[in-house]
Amino acid sequence: MLSLHPLLAFSDNYIWTIADGDGQALVVDPGEAGPVLRAIDAGLRPVAILLTHHHPDHIGGVAELLARWPAPCYAPEDARIPGEPVRVGDGDRVEVPELGIGFDVLAIPGHTLTHIAFFGAGLLFCGDTLFSLGCGRMFEGSPAQMLGSLDRLATLPGDTQVCCGHEYTEANGRFARAAERDNPARDRRLAEVATLRQAGQPSLPSRLDQERACNPFLRVDSAGVRASLGARGEDSASRIERFAALRGWKDGFAG
Ligand code: ZN
Ligand code: FE
Repeated sequence: MLSLHPLLAFSDNYIWTIADGDGQALVVDPGEAGPVLRAIDAGLRPVAILLTHHHPDHIGGVAELLARWPAPCYAPEDARIPGEPVRVGDGDRVEVPELGIGFDVLAIPGHTLTHIAFFGAGLLFCGDTLFSLGCGRMFEGSPAQMLGSLDRLATLPGDTQVCCGHEYTEANGRFARAAERDNPARDRRLAEVATLRQAGQPSLPSRLDQERACNPFLRVDSAGVRASLGARGEDSASRIERFAALRGWKDGFAG
């Protein structure tokens, strides 16, 4: 029996762990070592590290962690990720025999050009590409690349547990309400999120079918999102242009 558990890092990053009953664990995106080292002191035994992209808040703890606890590390091909990880790319498979699970590697450029996701055991580790009710900023990629990546993730099975890199759900929800006025499934999800957050619990993982139903960035074809874009003079026959307009709107959204 494996258990999924996010370790909070910095103010809103999650370092995802999957552990078996003996504490053997997979660790995803350790942006700082401290939370993982404390978990090790409590019995966690990392058997592999997965990295989704090069940003410091996702890889910053790797060197210190590996110095204390050697384990194979899997990362995208990107010189900005130092050390000697096993480099993986689209179509590769990462096996974690200690836990009896494996992951398909998906290239999902947009937030960064070399961003990857890991999908396996009913779990998706998608870093800063897909968030609950939102998506990552496009620091390096184009709208076409980011939308292509989100479209690809959206085709995974509906019961996939979406393990995002940040706790951004409530802020994303405020924008989602503006981007699509009438969405009862989204409102139910926001009520659930408010309850979880008030109790100090993560809003994640979410389920992929929930994101398809609620996340405006997966819903650029929906009448509600198009109506909201239309009210801003930004509806378009091109879904890439609609996505770009939605992402641009979110970038400047205050409220
Ligand atoms: Zn990032
Ligand atoms: Fe991040």
